[in-house]
Amino acid sequence: MTKSIFVTQPVLPHLADFIPYLEQIWDNKILTNCGPLHQQLEHELCEYLGVKYISLFNNGTIALITALQALGLEKGEVITTPYTFIATAHSIIWNNLTPVFVDIDILTSNIDPKKVEQAITDKTVAILPVHCYGLPCDVELLKDLADKHNIKLIYDAAHAFGVKHNRKSLLNYGDLSVISFHATKVFNTFEGGAIVSHSLEMKTKVDQLRNFGIVDEVTVSDVSLNGKLSEIHSALGLLQLKDIEQTLNARKVIDELYRELLRDVDGITCIKRTASDIDNYAYFPIVVEDSFPLSRDELFEKFKEHNIYARKYFYPIMTDFDIYKKYADHTPNAKWLSEHVLCLPMYPTLELEICQNITKIIKGL
Ligand SMILES: *Cc1c(COP(=O)(O)O)cnc(C)c1O
Repeated sequence: MTKSIFVTQPVLPHLADFIPYLEQIWDNKILTNCGPLHQQLEHELCEYLGVKYISLFNNGTIALITALQALGLEKGEVITTPYTFIATAHSIIWNNLTPVFVDIDILTSNIDPKKVEQAITDKTVAILPVHCYGLPCDVELLKDLADKHNIKLIYDAAHAFGVKHNRKSLLNYGDLSVISFHATKVFNTFEGGAIVSHSLEMKTKVDQLRNFGIVDEVTVSDVSLNGKLSEIHSALGLLQLKDIEQTLNARKVIDELYRELLRDVDGITCIKRTASDIDNYAYFPIVVEDSFPLSRDELFEKFKEHNIYARKYFYPIMTDFDIYKKYADHTPNAKWLSEHVLCLPMYPTLELEICQNITKIIKGL
């Protein structure tokens, strides 16, 4: 292929549609601090996602850090997955908490609740699972565990925008859920993120923490960050939301085509997406089994020769980074999957012919 194909290409609204929003911002001179566009986006996202309260953030990482802080976790262990993006682990350390990395279920790529239970000690204060690739965790079992041990449950739902499980938004599970609106995600505001909460009291707390901990002119409750989303980013979000159904439909078509074309390829397994009623097709991960003629890394290099840049999401696992080595535990499933997984290009404007060519490379044609 002559042009380079990357694992993703961001969705962008029409530039012309953006100009009126800029004019509005220039007219009223409100640039940030929860202005009208910010409020409108929070409102429209609650409606679209089917959640009660949402607090917008300038990115998903600051939202994660703030979510842990909002639950008042001051000391102790947080159980999480080693098979994720580094921000999940960072958010634990930023809160002076200790990460405990528990293995995943190899079929779902999500944290294994049975192993979570074995890892709970009297130091455990929370569980921070990830809905990896937008695939729902075992939310029922994890809730039972959190209730039984009286610990908090926060979902890193960075990949899970728009996913429904048991006919309701996946974001309604857990004490809090955190989403990312980064350029590479299903719904983007260039940079951005949000915390979903279930009570007005919690939203108020989150909103204060998002704004330096300021309660009123003379009261600051906590040492916290500035996590506010600007009016420009909010405007982008409002525009992106208008096209979200088309975005998701286009992803679905690509997902189905890949699955069909790869169905009978020996040694290639497409990770199943069956646990949700409504999926967002955020990624297209394949597992390159040991029986496949090429290793995962060899296939990755072969793609590059064709100007196709697949990604090893998620490799390495957290505990293979030097800074996290001291927290390493026995997580063979996460390790194995990280060495066999490859995410194929997946974005709404990807031409179907390119998908076909990608699968031809896999088939050695
Ligand atoms: C993208 C991502 C984040 C961080 O989101 P940003 O908005 O980029 O800060 C956190 N966790 C996971 C699993 C992610 O993929």
